[in-house]
Amino acid sequence: LSEAAQEVLDEIEEKNVDFLRLQFTDILGTIKNVSITADQAEKAFTEGIYFDGSSINGFVRIQESDMRLDPDPSTFSVLPWRENVDGGSSARLICDVIDTSTGEPFSGDPRGVLKRAIKRANDMGYTVNAAPEPEFFLFEEDEEGRATTKTNDAGGYFDLAPKDLASDVRRDIIYGLEDMGFDIEASHHEVAQGQHEINFTYDDALSTADNVATFRSVVRAIAAEHDLHATFMPKPIPKINGSGMHTHLSLFTEDGENAFHDEDDEFNLSETAKSFTAGILKHAPAITAVSNPTVNSYKRLVPGYEAPVYVAWSDRNRSALIRKPAARTPAASRIEARFPDPSCNPYLAFAALIHAGLDGVEQDLECDDPVRENIYDFDEEKREEYGITTLPSNLGEAVEALENDEVIQDALGEHVYENFVEAKTQEHKEYLVDVSDWELDRYLEKF
Ligand code: GLN
Ligand code: MG
Ligand code: MG
Ligand code: MG
Repeated sequence: LSEAAQEVLDEIEEKNVDFLRLQFTDILGTIKNVSITADQAEKAFTEGIYFDGSSINGFVRIQESDMRLDPDPSTFSVLPWRENVDGGSSARLICDVIDTSTGEPFSGDPRGVLKRAIKRANDMGYTVNAAPEPEFFLFEEDEEGRATTKTNDAGGYFDLAPKDLASDVRRDIIYGLEDMGFDIEASHHEVAQGQHEINFTYDDALSTADNVATFRSVVRAIAAEHDLHATFMPKPIPKINGSGMHTHLSLFTEDGENAFHDEDDEFNLSETAKSFTAGILKHAPAITAVSNPTVNSYKRLVPGYEAPVYVAWSDRNRSALIRKPAARTPAASRIEARFPDPSCNPYLAFAALIHAGLDGVEQDLECDDPVRENIYDFDEEKREEYGITTLPSNLGEAVEALENDEVIQDALGEHVYENFVEAKTQEHKEYLVDVSDWELDRYLEKF
């Protein structure tokens, strides 16, 4: 038993934990749980827990379905909202999925996909830091407890109570997150009514992806305690801001220096940072399929709502795909990818961003000059003059871009790539044959 695992066993004892939820995500980013009793914890650490992988979205076929979960002791955390009947508590552990036929990490495990991206960075001499800015809406439930799109407040950007009625809920969410070990930096009411953002401290990319998965479930669970539905759907209400998940990234060297910082550069960005940025810009259309993976994601990526549409970077402009945020210390020099949204699988989205960036670094790609004007206002001619291309305008186009981009395919690995494209193609097809309310409103009585 490793020292870290022993510490978890001690904590299980100390905190009166009865149940352990072993967690992993499917390729769509949905958290899956296997619950074991606390007395199985030691066995889980030494032998792993076997499960049937054939019933998980995008995992394996029935004839090869034996999978094993190896819990990562560093992810142990007592769940704040689950009191067991006898007063004991429940905890979770995030797991790696192992293919029992080879004993190797299962190639369809999103966490494994991200680990592979991080390993590539490590082999180049870097660690990867990431910080997300997940936004979400809080909606009222109807009498049957189902989500509506009615917001429970009329607040706006950085508004305070009493207008910001949701600030109580947000406070409880933050306490819950802190109980689970999150280091919360800030929270605020976002631009749209009912929209919020909570920021937590940056960490290595793997911990941050784990945190995003956890974050979404904590926010939903605590909102539900207030009879509210928290949604990370990217654009629940048309004509107002959608929810993004801006993702800040930087590479550090092994001796803890920020490889993205350059004191002498006009933007304090090193050549490495610029090549990394150029790599993301180059592969942006294909990354979008992963970082913006729903039909609805593309309703957010339209001009006018602080979400990017055009492939360009800037040192201040919020209409650009990548922004260099102002930084007070060298350690804080980083880039902000503004296109991901919180419906993505964070493991896969980070993996795609990291591989694209590292590819740029390996190839010494160069960035064009930053665009400082509002790109939403450019016409086609001006965009052409600046060499600015656009993101895919729907899920179908994004999947097509992914099918034409080997770097991002390799980032996902064959297994995830194939299952992902299959699932997303199907999703887009279903959407295309649907008849929406918009069509009925527009045509039903007119024709
Ligand atoms: N909600 C915006 C988006 O969709 C971001 C707004 C902001 O954080 N300033 O990305
Ligand atoms: Mg923010
Ligand atoms: Mg925001
Ligand atoms: Mg931001």
